[in-house]
Amino acid sequence: MEKVIYLDNAATTKTAPEVVEAMTPYFTEYYGNASSIYSLGTQAKKAVSQARETIAESLRAEPNEIYFTAGGSEADNWAVKATAEAYASKGRHIITSAIEHHAVLHTCKYLEQKGFEVTYIGVDENGILKIEELKAAVRPDTILITVMFANNEIGTIQPVKEIGEIAKEKGILFHTDAVQAYGQIPIDVDEYHIDMLSASGHKLNGPKGTGFLYIRKGIKTRSFIHGGQQERGRRAGTENVPGIVGLAAAVKRAFAIMEEKTKKEIALRDRLIERIKKEIPYCRLNGDEKKRLPNNVNFSFQFIEGESLLIMLDMKGICASSGSACTSGSLDPSHVLLAIGLAHETAHGSLRLTVSEENTMEEMDRTVDCIKEIIERLRAMSPLYEDFCKKKEGLL
Ligand SMILES: *Cc1c(COP(=O)(O)O)cnc(C)c1O
Repeated sequence: MEKVIYLDNAATTKTAPEVVEAMTPYFTEYYGNASSIYSLGTQAKKAVSQARETIAESLRAEPNEIYFTAGGSEADNWAVKATAEAYASKGRHIITSAIEHHAVLHTCKYLEQKGFEVTYIGVDENGILKIEELKAAVRPDTILITVMFANNEIGTIQPVKEIGEIAKEKGILFHTDAVQAYGQIPIDVDEYHIDMLSASGHKLNGPKGTGFLYIRKGIKTRSFIHGGQQERGRRAGTENVPGIVGLAAAVKRAFAIMEEKTKKEIALRDRLIERIKKEIPYCRLNGDEKKRLPNNVNFSFQFIEGESLLIMLDMKGICASSGSACTSGSLDPSHVLLAIGLAHETAHGSLRLTVSEENTMEEMDRTVDCIKEIIERLRAMSPLYEDFCKKKEGLL
């Protein structure tokens, strides 16, 4: 089989070799429980506090504001549920966006069943949050604004600083799901007025099942997992020491190579965008052209099914995503693509390609060649496309 072209880095990333290397001794040598008194345990404990410092520094936060979790979904659940519970006496209204990851959206749906009210703010045709709509949605009983830093499907980067300023001015807590942005874009929690921030290890070349929640000092929260005193009594469970060490190694790596990685990714991304736009008719670039993650490409192609395109790309060794819930067997098109105003059938014909700094220009060119060929083939079989062509000829 030919070498795989991996273009699904928003779904997960390859664990970096230096991450695996950093983790290994914590499986084989320093396997002690970080809560134990003997030195095998204190070595583990030391590694955990070093990791906490590394991560805090990356956000210009304090180490005791970092809480390790088992990933981005847990951090999102914790931030939203615990805030709702801790601040319920102040109010029961939450504001979020229509394009959040399901870890936030489904948590909000759950809270609606528990008597909370949630306002879902819309986005414009490029996926940028409607700030005026957000301002108008604020009420005296609003306790939380939760808006993602950058979208996982269309790569749009939100005006986080503006949102943070609104939240601060109104005395409302601000949580951001930064799973896609953290490690790709510099984030300063003070500058952006972020009170809580979720991140995940496996989206930045770290191990799966690792992540953290930043909680600003002084914010009321609730223990998310009850049990032992780990994570200052807020998240019980024996520390995943190798995972935490791996997460910190991934963070170090991401911040060390950020500038160079971003430059490389933008060149790869823009090659895909430019060639697709120029060479494949009836397509639409989804997401903002400028306020966009360096690694994200998302297109909708008329007259085709994204799923068929994915399967045929896979046969050519190309890993991509339709960026929608279709992959889970549901027929609903992506909520993100509907929120930016796409018709159902357009949303169904969508393709997400997310590059990494390890991809090459040759891979980009081969990918576009394959997409082009597959789309021509799929359209040739499409009755919709045939009708469209006939109509067009009739008009000419
Ligand atoms: C992947 C992702 C998550 C979930 O993170 P896990 O670590 O896989 O639980 C949450 N939010 C966004 C935006 C994501 O891309």
